[in-house]
Amino acid sequence: AARAGQETLQLYRPSMGEVYRRRFQLVTQFRQAVEQGDIVVHYQPKVRLSDDEVIGAEALVRWSHPEFGLVSPAEFVEAIETTGSIEILLEHVLDIVLAQIQAWTARDRRLSVSVNLSMRNLLAERFLETVAGQLERYGVPPELLLFEITESSVMARPEVSLPVLRDLANLGVQLSVDDFGTGYSSLAYLRRLPIDEMKIDKSFVQGMATDMGDHAIVKAIVELAHNLGLVVVAEGVEGAETKTMLEKMGCDQMQGFLLSRPLPVDKFETWLKTRASV
Ligand code: C2E
Ligand code: CA
Ligand code: CA
Ligand code: CA
Repeated sequence: AARAGQETLQLYRPSMGEVYRRRFQLVTQFRQAVEQGDIVVHYQPKVRLSDDEVIGAEALVRWSHPEFGLVSPAEFVEAIETTGSIEILLEHVLDIVLAQIQAWTARDRRLSVSVNLSMRNLLAERFLETVAGQLERYGVPPELLLFEITESSVMARPEVSLPVLRDLANLGVQLSVDDFGTGYSSLAYLRRLPIDEMKIDKSFVQGMATDMGDHAIVKAIVELAHNLGLVVVAEGVEGAETKTMLEKMGCDQMQGFLLSRPLPVDKFETWLKTRASV
C-alpha cells in the first residue's frame, strides 16, 4: 500500500499468492470480458521521418477490468497465451481494427494498422482462414493490415513459422519483425522471410542518445534492414534528440511517446486533427 507523504508512485507489489489469484482470474474471466466489450484497442501513431506524415498506427490492447482497472497486455496476454483464448483475442482485435480501417478508408483517410501476433496465433489451425475471412468480410485492402511478430518467436522455430508467414504474405498483408535485436536471428534465415518491415526494439532506441553501444546497434539494424530491402521502424522514441539521430541514420519510421502514447480511437482522431492543423 502507498505510504502517506511519499512523493513517488508506489508500485503495487502483490504477494505470490495474489499474483496467482489475479492471473487465475484474468484467465478465467477473459472470454466474458471480450463479450462485455472490456477488451479495448488503443492506437499509437506511426510517423514517416522524411516528411512527418502519419502513415498508420499500432493497435495495442487493454483490459478495462472492473476490479483491477486498466490492465496492460504485458500482464494478461502472457496469461492467456497458453490457452485457446489467445485466438479469441486475435479475432476480437481484428474485428475492431478492420472495422476501423474500413471507416477511415470510407472517409478517405488511408491509414495502415499493425496488429501484434503471438506465436500461438500463427500455429492455430484456422489462423489463415480467419484472417482471410475477416479481410473479405470488412472489404479492407490487405496491404493496410500489418502483422507484427517478435524476432524471438519467429526464430524459435523457423521451420514452423516460415510456411505460415509465406501463406500470410500471399494474402497481401504486410509482415513486421518486432523487438528486433533482442532475439538471435540467423541472417541467412532472415533473408528468406517474406517480411516487409523490421522494428528496432525500444531498449536500443531508448539508450541511443546516451549510450554509444546502443547507438551503434540501431545504426547497424537500419543498415541491415535497408540492405535486405526492408522498411525500418524505431519504437519507443521519447526524446527529440533521438528523433534527429534516427533521421540522420535514414531510419524510415518512428513511434513513441514523443509523438503520442497509445490512445483510444476518439482521442487518436483528435490528435490527428490537431496535428494536421499546426
Ligand atoms: P510491443 O508490441 O513491443 O508494443 C510496444 C509497447 O511499448 C507498448 O506497450 C507501448 O505502449 C509501449 N510504448 C510505445 N511507445 C513507447 C515509448 O516511447 N516509451 C516506452 N517506455 N514505451 C512505449 P503495451 O501497450 O503495454 O504492450 C505491451 C506488449 O503487449 C506489446 O509489446 C505486445 O507484445 C503485447 N500486445 C499488445 N497488444 C497485443 C495484441 O493485440 N495481441 C498480442 N498477442 N500481444 C499484444
Ligand atoms: Ca508491437
Ligand atoms: Ca509482403
Ligand atoms: Ca516492440
